[in-house]
Amino acid sequence: MSRLLALLLTLVVGASLPATAQQTVADLVVTNGRIYTADAARPVVDAMAIRGGRVVFVGDRAGAKALTGAATQVLDLDGQTVIPGMTDAHAHVLGLGQSLRNVDLVGTTSYDAVIARVVERAMQTPKGEWIIGRGWDQNDWGDTRWPSHEALSRAVPDHPVYLERVDGHAAVVNALAMQRAGLTRATKDPSGGQIIRDARGEPIGVLVDNAQSLVERSIPAATRAQVKGMIAAAITEMHRWGLTGVHDAGASAQTLELYEELGGEGALDMRLYAMISDHAPTLEAWFRRGPQSGLFDGRLWVRSIKLYQDGALGSRGAALLEPYSDDASTSGLLVSAPAHIREVADHALVAGFQVNTHAIGDRGNRLVLDAYQAALAARPTADHRFRVEHAQILHSDDIPRFAALGVIPSMQASHQTSDMYWAGNRLGETRLRGAYAWRSLLETGTIIPNGSDFPVEYVDPLISFKASVSRQDAKGWPVGGWFPEQRMTREEALKSMTIWPAYAAFQERELGSLTPGKHADFVVLDQDLLRIPDAMLSQVRVRSTWFAGRKVYERR
Ligand SMILES: [Zn+2]
Repeated sequence: MSRLLALLLTLVVGASLPATAQQTVADLVVTNGRIYTADAARPVVDAMAIRGGRVVFVGDRAGAKALTGAATQVLDLDGQTVIPGMTDAHAHVLGLGQSLRNVDLVGTTSYDAVIARVVERAMQTPKGEWIIGRGWDQNDWGDTRWPSHEALSRAVPDHPVYLERVDGHAAVVNALAMQRAGLTRATKDPSGGQIIRDARGEPIGVLVDNAQSLVERSIPAATRAQVKGMIAAAITEMHRWGLTGVHDAGASAQTLELYEELGGEGALDMRLYAMISDHAPTLEAWFRRGPQSGLFDGRLWVRSIKLYQDGALGSRGAALLEPYSDDASTSGLLVSAPAHIREVADHALVAGFQVNTHAIGDRGNRLVLDAYQAALAARPTADHRFRVEHAQILHSDDIPRFAALGVIPSMQASHQTSDMYWAGNRLGETRLRGAYAWRSLLETGTIIPNGSDFPVEYVDPLISFKASVSRQDAKGWPVGGWFPEQRMTREEALKSMTIWPAYAAFQERELGSLTPGKHADFVVLDQDLLRIPDAMLSQVRVRSTWFAGRKVYERR
């Protein structure tokens, strides 16, 4: 109601102004800064003006001043840096929401510290409700033996508690959790799992690998309202890190329904590009409905599908052309039959949807390119923008095929810095030359939308920015960078988080750069991301995040 009143007032006041001024007075002027636009036409400007949630002007201070009226909000940057709102082109929104709900146990230095965090959460949680935590590591404690449930059960008697180890391969649970799960000394170890017991044969509350599911399966699934809350919490978290856009790499029918519900309530302050999970009834329903673009004034897109070709490198699930260098008995596995990728691609081309397939190994990537090539040959489509998600390890013959087919490699620079310590063991020296091969790909003329794959990696997109330009970890290792010839320039890295993700999502006319006519999503940084020395890149922080010309986050 008050919004309507404000609109009426604007109309009344506006009516007394000359027609041209009325059209050009800005809601917000951002001035006296160093604004990197990611627009090749005007890469750096001092000022910009915003009206109705969109950029209406970029240029010099005088130009912006001319658009300033009595009601215009002025943001004086005092020399600070602005970049377009960043987009994570491959992440898991609900996964982030779930992890935010868990008690964070990373960095705890004793079992007592773990218990203290759970007690704190128990005080805010209704009795009887489950408390889930993650991230403890007994190797960081003074006493590195397995913990035992008694102290936890005494401190938190009224909530079932399930606390996963940092690697996800073990959990400690309390007495109430064991009671809920019916776990007693009579319970046998499942195959591939172990219930740790004391000298008398009593379970001590620690469950290893497949034994974890004995308790895990008693944890009730989140309610619809809880899932909605998790999505909202994930969006708030993304704002903290300067993200105004995300490509959600696999959304279920329920998640998509909740996105639309949030959009309808005006509670979706995110450019959300949702890939539909590979689930036949869900795909059929969306094929019937057709591609949806820019719903809720540019907040939701549903016009792509997420498929999986192979597994991951760490667990030797990535499909390789030759056996693993550190295990000659395997060359990985296929999660889907190549014929399935082809079949979905055929349907998608008919229905006007994009296909984005996870492929990590060189064989996985080749198979996806083959399937796409066959589908496109049967149904030539000019602007398909099919993607390979990860494209981590490529045979040199396949690198030029991306540009030739118009297939976009969607890559996560932070995976390179996480995997570089052991990728050589898995792959050997020769194959490393085609691993995370950004420069080789860029030289063929393709773009590379960047991402984090959170919550697998941290949400902060500047971690991938630093990895893209340095190929070094936060400590500056290795000196000179890991296969430094594959680095991106700073300008490329900025594009890989702004305009390239927009292109990879058919949004480049609406988003991705600070260009008149586009949505006014931007981030104020505390340092000049494009000019400071490499060593300082880890220290850059987001000061504020703006979505559609409105501040959605400010650092305190
Ligand atoms: Zn992923």
